[in-house]
Amino acid sequence: MPTNNSMALETATRRIGEEIFARAEDAMPSVFSMEYWQQYFMDWMTQDEDLKLRLFRFVEVLPGLRSNKAIARHFKQYLDRNGDGHPPLPLPIQMALAYRRPDSLIGTLVAEAAKFGCGVMAKQFIAGATPDEAISAMLVHRRKGMTFTLDVLGETVIADRVAREHQEQYLRLVREMSRVAPTWPANPILDAAPWGPLPRVNISLKLSAIVSKWDASDPAGTTTAVLERLRPVLRAAKESGAFINVDMEHYAVKDMTLEIFKQVLMEPEFRDWSDCGIVIQVYMPDGERDMADLIRWTRKRGVPITVRLVKGAYWDSETANAVRSGWESPLYTKKWESDAAFERTARMMIENADIVRPAFASHNVRSIAHVLALEEALGKPPRTTELQMLTGMGDPLKRAIVEMKQRLRVYAPVGDQMSGMAYFIRRLIENTANESFLRQSFSQDTPTEALLNNPLDHDHIPDTPLPEPYIQDPDEYAEMNTFVNESDIDFGKAHNRDAMEKAFKAARAQFGHQHPAIIRGEPVESGKWFDSLNPSEPTQVVGHTAMCDARIVDRAVEAAAEACRTWSARSLEERADVLEHATDMLHDELFTQAAWLVYEVGKTRQEAVADIMEAIDYLRFYAFEARRLGSRVRRRDYPGETNEYFYGPRGVVAVISPFCFPMALLTGMAAAAVAMGNGVIVKPASTASICGGRIVDLLNRAGLPAGVLNFVPGRGSDVGEALAKHPGVDMVAFTGSSRVGRKIIDFARQLPHGAKGYKHVLAEMGAKNAIIIDDDADVDQAVQATIASAFHYSGQKCTACSRVIVLDDIYDDYIAKLVEAASGIKPAASELPGTTVGPLIDADALKRAKEAVDTAKRESKCLLGGDVSEPGKGGYFMSPVIFGDVKPTAKLAQEEILAPVLAVIRARSFDEAIDIANGTPYALAGGVFSRSPVNIDKAKRLLEVGCLYVNRKITVSRVDRQPFGGVRMSGLGTKTGGPDYLQQYAIPRTISENTMRHGFSPANKTRESEKAHA
Ligand SMILES: Cc1cc2nc3c(=O)[nH]c(=O)nc-3n(C[C@H](O)[C@H](O)[C@H](O)COP(=O)(O)OP(=O)(O)OC[C@H]3O[C@@H](n4cnc5c(N)ncnc54)[C@H](O)[C@@H]3O)c2cc1C
Repeated sequence: MPTNNSMALETATRRIGEEIFARAEDAMPSVFSMEYWQQYFMDWMTQDEDLKLRLFRFVEVLPGLRSNKAIARHFKQYLDRNGDGHPPLPLPIQMALAYRRPDSLIGTLVAEAAKFGCGVMAKQFIAGATPDEAISAMLVHRRKGMTFTLDVLGETVIADRVAREHQEQYLRLVREMSRVAPTWPANPILDAAPWGPLPRVNISLKLSAIVSKWDASDPAGTTTAVLERLRPVLRAAKESGAFINVDMEHYAVKDMTLEIFKQVLMEPEFRDWSDCGIVIQVYMPDGERDMADLIRWTRKRGVPITVRLVKGAYWDSETANAVRSGWESPLYTKKWESDAAFERTARMMIENADIVRPAFASHNVRSIAHVLALEEALGKPPRTTELQMLTGMGDPLKRAIVEMKQRLRVYAPVGDQMSGMAYFIRRLIENTANESFLRQSFSQDTPTEALLNNPLDHDHIPDTPLPEPYIQDPDEYAEMNTFVNESDIDFGKAHNRDAMEKAFKAARAQFGHQHPAIIRGEPVESGKWFDSLNPSEPTQVVGHTAMCDARIVDRAVEAAAEACRTWSARSLEERADVLEHATDMLHDELFTQAAWLVYEVGKTRQEAVADIMEAIDYLRFYAFEARRLGSRVRRRDYPGETNEYFYGPRGVVAVISPFCFPMALLTGMAAAAVAMGNGVIVKPASTASICGGRIVDLLNRAGLPAGVLNFVPGRGSDVGEALAKHPGVDMVAFTGSSRVGRKIIDFARQLPHGAKGYKHVLAEMGAKNAIIIDDDADVDQAVQATIASAFHYSGQKCTACSRVIVLDDIYDDYIAKLVEAASGIKPAASELPGTTVGPLIDADALKRAKEAVDTAKRESKCLLGGDVSEPGKGGYFMSPVIFGDVKPTAKLAQEEILAPVLAVIRARSFDEAIDIANGTPYALAGGVFSRSPVNIDKAKRLLEVGCLYVNRKITVSRVDRQPFGGVRMSGLGTKTGGPDYLQQYAIPRTISENTMRHGFSPANKTRESEKAHA
């Protein structure tokens, strides 16, 4: 039941809202102003969603294009959609697309027009490229009765120099603005609030812009780095009487941003400073709690701060990211929920205005009117609340607010168009979104009455369609596919970090234990042990593993063969049940198992957790696949004859797995083999034996009958070779280097005495993966992806990038940024939370890598690094190494090196880049960074790789989404985690039975053998 108070508030909200609309109507831009035509263009663009998307993509790539020819080429590629089922393009675009050659006169004119139009649009949202331009623009604002807050453009910093430059720009803005601000004519509405004078200079700052690495899993390290950069800016502001506001960014950085803000303001130097503020976002349920916490904290501190309330600027990306990661979205999913939260939180703020000075950033007339009505209703003096809007958006509203003698602050970013692209795109999305209030009010002519509705009266508003995966499968999949990937682990959450630390402690307490072989479910000792060392600290013995030999291999083969007979008689359903049970167990033990990966193979915590998640996905996916194959039994029964086609086991399968994904790949191969009813022997990489043993143990605990899965650790030259040659082994599933893979294939092809036949071999082998960087690539994005692909896990993943092929036009820019960003990487112990690059796997690997680098130095130009730890001191660390202008045929560009060593190759054209990429015997993974639809299409058709990644890193593939595997010298077999994988561990069998007995043919379709069982 609405109370009298709430009805009065609603009436006041409508009254104020109508006044704003009426005044805004009078202040609409005339047809002769640029503002009118900008608005007209936005409206026009949003009539056709497909065209809007194409235009956004074109606008996004435009600042990165280096010539008119390139601009005209991209304009045509993005906008020419003739014949693909869409309505005809607007006439001006059709006319603009009339050119055939991008370097023709029309092409050049179109390019110039596009640059001009885009520049005008971008300028609309930006205060200027330099502090001087910003000062002039802000003076214009002040003359129009609005004050300002300035922000330095630029996000996602990849090099520390850029982060430092951002900090310096902030310092310059504070100082230069503060120097001239006292000379500006006074304006009592802008320069004072009910509690006293306000600083004329107001700067908004993004914390992520002043550091090159924001690592949510390392709050302590990130906080220290941010504070080091933040303090001088706050100090300068305090000294010059300027105001600093901390902006709020993505959800992943929210909690840490709040913590850093609170921490620095409790330091003695800033303890009594009130000219500072922060943003609270209420497009998420966290928002109100964050606000309440902040009010409590500010009361405790006893000195006021300012809070800017916003709904939030990252709705699209956060929502899509949550779907991709398997998380529930942290944001509201209905627009009215954000609007209603804004109103509730506004009340909380105005009620506490003595300690939290309220500022409201919105272009929604209903939201603004409600805030002003609340101010009145709660008896606060006028201008207790400050209103804030973005430069270039909703200018008629701004004029209305100024006329109503409210204090209005305009948010205006400073910087060039290139660094402002993310900001510019956010504004375009916001301006053209269906849900946007501005669009509804000014473009869609929704009646004022409806626009001023209470968000709680939302029944008539259709829900926003939410992003969701689009899955297209053949019928049999569509009916059965229940598989979902394991959700990502967010180390930004304290409970995940705590769980990891607890797991580290528990693992350390078990260091030094002995890990025997497992045959028929029983531990078997070989009499000899080898030590697993922590590659980050080789003096630490993680454990001792049994060193097996050919004798033990014989016992394991016998056990597996015996177990296969009964295990294969179980149905695929039953076998799938065991895998599913293992899935649940591994999910519960995720952190425990990940800790061993960190200690035994030197993975960082993120990589270790990703490895376990992949293992879980394999178990779940292969359980589903086993059921699918079980249901795919084909029957063709005729009178007197039954015929059946189904999958039977191969027999004894040897699984030989690598150290690079020691749990994921081992689990994948072993799970596939047991799912198809085989008896299995696992031989892990000797450097990853403890991890391998733990997975075998888990699968046995999950309910595999004794002997189905056996564990025989040892040296490759003993156990691996013995398995590959063994006459009792029917199949070898191998993943590892090409060097070992080739040997295994040779051994397996021999026909030893007593062998029943040739072995089936599945081999995923080495690679020389390349990424092509096209001349229109987003260089920052490409550099970030190269670093992750080439240097994370010290370049030891089979999918690691070891060649980058860069187009001539962009080569110098790319190299400068790559070397700068890579030089900031300092390898460190993988257990530490901030580590991105840990050690190499062992002393031999480090020695081999060093030799390869020394050799390469003789034939190519070394641009960076190659520092290695001294033998015997600390871990097996090697800093990233980059060689430039490498010849495509150089040894460095041809031979597999499992180390953080990258060869950068120059190409004159995209076609040449593809030829170079295809110019090795390997064909595992490859990447391309390009914003040209034509070149992306070319790469998809012509790059000879098993897995192609476009505009993303090449090292993370997810089961079912990106089935994984190579061709040519990189692999024999079909893709792991894909729909054809399990069949490789099976033999398709045909059984035909004559059911006729002396002229009697059974009427039903049951086989005689089935009747006997019944
Ligand atoms: C001066 C100023 C400073 C700003 N600073 C920041 C900042 O530091 N951090 C930041 O994140 N944003 C910031 N913003 C951006 C601001 O978040 C957006 O401009 C704002 O959300 C748009 O809201 P509105 O009330 O103007 O428009 P409306 O059209 O009423 O609201 C649009 C907003 O609703 C939300 N929304 C849209 N669809 C849905 C849905 N289906 N379910 C739930 N919610 C939905 C989104 O947040 C969207 O932005 C700032 C804006 C201004 C004006």
